[in-house]
Order: sequence, then C-alpha cells, then structure tokens
Amino acid sequence: LTTEHPANESKALPRAPMAVELVSFEPATGAEMWRGPLGDVDEQVARASRAWPAWAAQPLSTRMELLRRFANEVRKDAEAFATLIARETGKPMWEANVEVESVIAKVELSIRAYAERTAQRRLDSALQGTMALRHKPHGVVAVLGPFNYPAHLPCGHIVPALIAGNAVIFKPSEKVPASGEFLARCFHKAGVPAAIMQFCAGGPAEGQKLVAHEGVNGVLFTGSAHTGITINRRLAARPDKLVTLEMGGNNPIVVWDTPKITDAAAIVVQSAFASAGQRCTAARRLIVKDTMIEPLLAEVKSLADRIIFGAPFDSPAPFMGPVIDNAAADGLTESFLYLLSHGGRAIKHLVRPDEALPFLSPAIIDVTAMAEKPDVELFGPILQVIRVSDFDEAIAEANATRYGLVAALVGGTPQEYNRFWGHARAGIVNWNRPTIGPSHAAPVGGTGLSGNHRPSGFYAADYCAYPVASGEMEQPRAAIGVGLR
Ligand code: NAD
Repeated sequence: LTTEHPANESKALPRAPMAVELVSFEPATGAEMWRGPLGDVDEQVARASRAWPAWAAQPLSTRMELLRRFANEVRKDAEAFATLIARETGKPMWEANVEVESVIAKVELSIRAYAERTAQRRLDSALQGTMALRHKPHGVVAVLGPFNYPAHLPCGHIVPALIAGNAVIFKPSEKVPASGEFLARCFHKAGVPAAIMQFCAGGPAEGQKLVAHEGVNGVLFTGSAHTGITINRRLAARPDKLVTLEMGGNNPIVVWDTPKITDAAAIVVQSAFASAGQRCTAARRLIVKDTMIEPLLAEVKSLADRIIFGAPFDSPAPFMGPVIDNAAADGLTESFLYLLSHGGRAIKHLVRPDEALPFLSPAIIDVTAMAEKPDVELFGPILQVIRVSDFDEAIAEANATRYGLVAALVGGTPQEYNRFWGHARAGIVNWNRPTIGPSHAAPVGGTGLSGNHRPSGFYAADYCAYPVASGEMEQPRAAIGVGLR
C-alpha cells in the first residue's frame, strides 16, 4: 500500500530484531500478560512434515471426532478462555464470551461444510464412464492470525484445515500469544497430536519464515492488506503454494430514506464502534442522503455519546474496550488530526482520557469537503461521514475504495436495494443489517484489497483441500477406436 497517510505508519514492531522471547501486555492496564520463547520455525515445520501423512491417512470420522472433542474442551474451559481473551485484547467480557461460543460453533459448521463442499462424489457419465471426485489435504499449512479475534478467526482456518487432513502451524498475532497458546492446548487436550497442531509464538519475522519455508505447503492468513500484499509478493513465483488472504476493509454504510431513524442510527453505531472499531467488517464511511443528514447524525451522535468505553471487567459492562496498544492509539489519533487538518469537520472528537493507555472515545468526522479522502483502513473507533444528494452518487462513493469486504444499505426501497446490490463491489452486501457479524454459515471474504478470492467462513473447506478427479475402471479397456492403420 503506498500512501502518505499516517495510519499506515502505525505498525511499530514491539520488539528488537534479535529477540528470543515474546511478551504481550494487557491493553486495559499495560500490565505484562504473557512471556515465552519464540517458535523455532525450522524445527516445527520438520515435525509437522513427518507427522501429517499419518494424520491424513486417518479416517475422516476419526478427525471429526477429535474436533468434536476439541469443541467440548473449549466448552469446559469457556469462562477461563473468555477471561483470557478479554484481558489480552481488552474487549469486554460479554464480547469475549461470544467469541468463545463462535469457536465452539465452528466445529459443526466446518464438518457440514466439508460434507457439502468437499465430500467424495461419483460423476459417472455415458461418455467418460466411471468418474470419482475426491479431495486431498495440502500437507503442512501455516495459519497466521490477527489480534482482534485471536481464537475465532484463526479457528476459521485451523478447524477446516485439520478436518481435511492437514497439519497446522498456528502463529497468532504477536499481540495475543496467550490466547493462541490456550487455543492450541484445547486441541491437544482433545487428542489432536501435538505435531499436527502446533503453536508458534512470534511476530512478523516468524511469519515471514513460515511463509518462505520450503516445507510449508499453504499460508492461511487473516490480517491487514499491508501484510497480505507482502505475503502475496513473497510467493509471487510460487504458484504451487496455497495462499489465502482475508484482509481489511474501508467499508461503506449508506443511509437512505427511512422513517426509522432511531433504528438506522443504532445500526450505524453498532457497525462503526463495536470492538472499538477493530473489526474487519466495521463501517468506516457513513454515506448519507443530504435530506437525512441532520436527524440521522443527531441520533448517531447522541447514541455514540452514551457509549461506555472501559476495561473488560468494568461494571456496568462497557460497550467497547481500548484499542490494542498505545502504538495503535497514537496512529489513530494522528489519523484523526490528519482528517481534521485536511478539510474534515469534527462531529464528535476523538478523546483519549489517559495518554498512557489506549482507550479512545468513539469519534465522528464529516469528510465531505475533503479534496482527497484517504482510502485506508482506520482500524479503530473513527467514523467518517460523507453527504450525497442522489443514489448514484451514494453508490459511487460506496465503491470509491480499493477494498471490498462489506457494503450495507440502510433504508431505501426494494428497487434501490436491488440497484445497490447490483453495483456494490463487496463480498458481503447487507440491507438494513449492520456491516459487522457476518454469518460463518456463509462464505466470508471480499474483493479488491480485502481478499484474494478465497473466502473463508463456510467456503474455507474449498481451500483446505484440493480436488482430484479420477477416471476409474477395474480392468483396463482399449480406448483407441479410430485412426489406426
Ligand atoms: P497484521 O497484518 O499486522 O498481522 C496479521 C498476522 O500476520 C500476525 O500474525 C503477524 O505477526 C503476521 N505478520 C505480520 N507481518 C508479516 C509478514 N511480513 N509476513 C508474514 N506474517 C506477517 O494484522 P493485525 O493488525 O493483527 O490485524 C488487524 C487486521 O486484520 C485489520 O486490517 C483487519 O481488517 C484484518 N482482519 C481481517 C479479517 C477478515 O476476515 N478479512 C478478520 C479480522 C481482521
């Protein structure tokens, strides 16, 4: 991504290049949370390479059974797991509970997806005779996770990859190793062999090593477009390696004619500020018909003013926690100032009550007058507002991004929604629903810089195994019928 925008410069590495151990910190307190050795990538890949053929040779039913046991292990430890996730990410406890529930639900969804998308089939035809379609695992895959959903999103790759018969080396984000390690332990307690599901502590350096390693057959990545592009570039000359990229978004939410202003405002606020805006599907740009702008913004602002942001275990429970660390809070503050100093008009200022901690208030800024609106993902609680006068302009604004994860329309007629759906360039297009909270019973992925056309969610089964088509007969039968002397 080449842009001068400060949001792209906030990716400070948390440790020196020669580090031998990783440390994570609680965003809400700054206290040290986890400390441990960095993964030894060569050793881990060698171990996985030796082990995966035996795992792949197990009956599918055995692997499914072990994953169902994994779901039970997570269920048994749900409270402890959610507490750990809440501490390490700063998200409220209620939200961490939902994340743990999603991990449990992933198993049955993935089993269903495997059967629906990659099951064995016969494709007999009069012309070709007996044909079979079966799927094989890739071998050793690296799963690189993001910090914002340290258990749920990696599981979106890990669970289907294990069902399909791959060995997984899971490197969580360097900001959330404790959650990653806990997750790996649940697989082991369930009986998934230690060599088949390995936890690798580390940051970009370990990620790069895994990506480039000859023994790694696939890279299943969820994270920023910046990193995804780096990985794609690194593997440009390696078409033999599977690369699946689930990346960010600069997602639009368009509000059109509706008498239900309060509901529309609640959808906008939920879309923009849940998880302190740290969701790939969060609404970043609110595009509004000019006749709606005053009543809508009054409601959105008054609701945003009521948002409690605080530590995960505060009482009453906060709506949202801090952003992940001080570097992220600094970058978002700079980005807000950049928007302000380039023609943006603050509707609700970004406030950081304590400079030593990464708590940020929800912020709203009207960027309609900006000559050039930066097309970058501001991964935090900043909502940019754009006024438009007609529906074509709204669609053009919605599509004015290199990303394409989610686009939502709130209000409008069924005909307008049809037009919106037809023109919106995004992998998820919603009507009168928030941009966030995609169903994992459906594919989850985007176009443009949001992904490389290998959606996760229900379609993760597709990339976790490759199809093998076989023409099969019990005895050889002569096939040359013409052209012989
Ligand atoms: P990130 O790109 O900084 O890191 C993601 C992972 O990649 C981490 O494990 C990191 O250590 C690793 N990594 C970093 N540099 C690497 C390199 N050069 N080579 C290999 N690996 C490397 O992302 P993040 O800040 O942890 O997560 C937030 C981002 O993730 C946001 O952009 C968000 O939109 C995106 N995201 C996307 C989805 C989706 O499903 N599309 C879901 C959640 C988050």
